[in-house]
Amino acid sequence: MNTAGVAPDGQHGQDHLGQKRDPHDLASRRQYRSLQARARNKMLSGVPDMDTEGLNVKNRKMRVCVATCNRADYSKLAPVMFALRDDPDMELQVVVMGSHLIDDYGSTYRMIQQDEFEVDGYLHTIVRGEDEASMAESVGLALVKLPDVLVRLKPDLLIVHGDRFDALSLATCAALMNVRILHIEGGEVSGTIDDSIRHSITKLSHYHACCTDRARRRLLSMCEDNDHILLAGCPTYDKLLSCNAKNYDNVLSKWVGEGVKPKDFIVALQHPVTTDIKGSLKMFDLMLDALLEFNVKTLVLFPNIDAGSKEMTRMIRLRGLEHHPNFSLAKHIPYDQFIILLANTGCLIGNSSAGIREAGAFGTPVINLGNRQIGREAGENVLHVRDADTKGKILHAVNLQYQKQFPCSYIYGDGHAVQRIMKFIHKIRNDLEKPIQKSFIFPPMKDTVSQDIDHILETQSALAVDLGGTNLRVAIISQQGEVLHKMSELTPPTYEQRMDLLVRMLVEATSKAVELSCRILGIGISTGGRVNPHEGMVLHSTKILEEWSSIDLRTPISSKLHLPVWVDNDGNCAALGEKKFGKGKGSEDFITLIVGTGIGGGIVLNNELVHGANFCAAELGHISVSMDGPDCMCGSSGCVESYASGIALQREAKKLHDADELLVPGVHLREGEEVTGKHVIQAAQLGNKKAEKVVETACEALGLAVCTLLHTVNPSHIILCGHLAPHYVDGVREVIQRRALPSAANSIQIMVSDLEEPALLGAASIVLEYATRRIY
Ligand SMILES: [Zn+2]
Repeated sequence: MNTAGVAPDGQHGQDHLGQKRDPHDLASRRQYRSLQARARNKMLSGVPDMDTEGLNVKNRKMRVCVATCNRADYSKLAPVMFALRDDPDMELQVVVMGSHLIDDYGSTYRMIQQDEFEVDGYLHTIVRGEDEASMAESVGLALVKLPDVLVRLKPDLLIVHGDRFDALSLATCAALMNVRILHIEGGEVSGTIDDSIRHSITKLSHYHACCTDRARRRLLSMCEDNDHILLAGCPTYDKLLSCNAKNYDNVLSKWVGEGVKPKDFIVALQHPVTTDIKGSLKMFDLMLDALLEFNVKTLVLFPNIDAGSKEMTRMIRLRGLEHHPNFSLAKHIPYDQFIILLANTGCLIGNSSAGIREAGAFGTPVINLGNRQIGREAGENVLHVRDADTKGKILHAVNLQYQKQFPCSYIYGDGHAVQRIMKFIHKIRNDLEKPIQKSFIFPPMKDTVSQDIDHILETQSALAVDLGGTNLRVAIISQQGEVLHKMSELTPPTYEQRMDLLVRMLVEATSKAVELSCRILGIGISTGGRVNPHEGMVLHSTKILEEWSSIDLRTPISSKLHLPVWVDNDGNCAALGEKKFGKGKGSEDFITLIVGTGIGGGIVLNNELVHGANFCAAELGHISVSMDGPDCMCGSSGCVESYASGIALQREAKKLHDADELLVPGVHLREGEEVTGKHVIQAAQLGNKKAEKVVETACEALGLAVCTLLHTVNPSHIILCGHLAPHYVDGVREVIQRRALPSAANSIQIMVSDLEEPALLGAASIVLEYATRRIY
């Protein structure tokens, strides 16, 4: 076991070679800051640092900085580092940081010294504690120390590897300092926090050397530039495929025990899973129990520096594995020896990426515990035990895998990765004079996709407004015509009050919509008066709505609510409501007639609403049914509205009441209650002859108006809506039979709407049907 562990000679308290700094020394701090400021100014001014040295990159060596943080990344980076060192066009810079410098992890910086690399900086960047917080703090510490080093080294390219938190600080720092980054092993998927870190580094990096074709395709789908992606294979495979695995005697006796034969031992390497520390500790516990029970020669490697590793070390000690005759422990094994162990072990158990990647090259049986490597591509040598929650399951897996031999798999490399990477770096050299700005290759955006997602998250809905003489109502209405929320206020008498109230109610409704998970597509307004729907203007209104002529409704509401706005008159809206949600569904030619306080309607011909040349079509209340007759709100007289509207009935009711001829037993008028059309209808139903006459006259007038419509338009349906409709429908049918042309009368269907809110629903339907168009 490698227990030696001092930091590099004379390196304690230093950030990098030759620049000992006392952080409390003010002068040195000032100097440091001005150095930083100078560097920053150079970068901000857009003048590349190397130009200030008068050196064109074509006339000098390319400075390639390799930063290594632990034994695992060094095993991938070392082959590239050797090649860079041997290349006369390259100047290799080496930064050593992270767990390399920590005794508990084997002080692996020594490997780098043994390989005779000149190290340009040692950075102590690990905050001890082995928990999530200390990992985050370590990233922060590295971010504090790295800029200094990069300012000094001025690399043209920084090579980072993998998915460790150290690598994230390296990539973050380099990206912020406009240093080009080559990321090795991006695009892979493992299934832990490592994924987030790996993909983040991908986004920060300018170049990618990946290992598998799937990884390459993932990089492309992450919007990376195809020209900057190299499918290299894994650099360790170069060494892996050229090593002599038969040369095992010394290695096996050194690490596992004297006289141990190939295949007669197990290697265990289990790292904590940082997103599920508790679960992974339990799994480690169970694995040790299972291995103790299986009881063959077993080599247990100490875990990496992830959060939770300290607890694992404690578990090893608790079982006294240090003194167990069949167990040996190791903090660090040099990579070339590790490969030989891997090639000759009877089984590798744990969750190390070495099991997935390196072991495949030898067909070594692997048991992968838990989810840490679950997403990675693997050969058939790997047996996944996802729920390793009992000792029995793990033991069963060991029995299945131990001493088997699988076909070798070469998913991760063909032995020529380094050669490819070097060719790639030479190509990058040509880019150095180009702007560093990284471009992301976004795929064309698909509208349908985003709409589908919206639809899953939120109900596509409309805000509908019904602005009548009496009430101002706002509702949230779903694509299916469901009224999800409704508000009602009395319609204020002046324009300004009306607009204020309307905007206030709409703002409130949009907030309510978020609460109800509704995506508001737009606002549909149904209003009394003549409307130009193309411009969203109320052109003119009768006395029912004062101060409601030449009003632009669309612009102020659209700009306050940031939503598209449609406006139409209430009769037209009612017709649209019937068409989408009511009895007009499926009918191409029909007329909606609203009989409420006033009379209005809408005409649908050939599936389209008829607006007319001057937006005056379907003013059905003003169909003349008499040469003289009562005065109408429109200024004329004898209009159907002046006979059959709520206002007309009220007028007649008042006349009867004034003559004391309205009230009959059963019809009551409470103290101070206003006489309305309702009372005349009640009185008629209870046999008041004078009241019956009023209602009959109203039916006659409405029937005549409908005859006019039949003879003008010949619709298939007439849909009566409004609160008076049920009282008129039979009378209207009777008039038609009596007075309309038989061919028109026989085919027509007169029906009463079953929609509670045709105008509101119609206003919503404009939004829901036409949300992609400005006009309809
Ligand atoms: Zn009129």
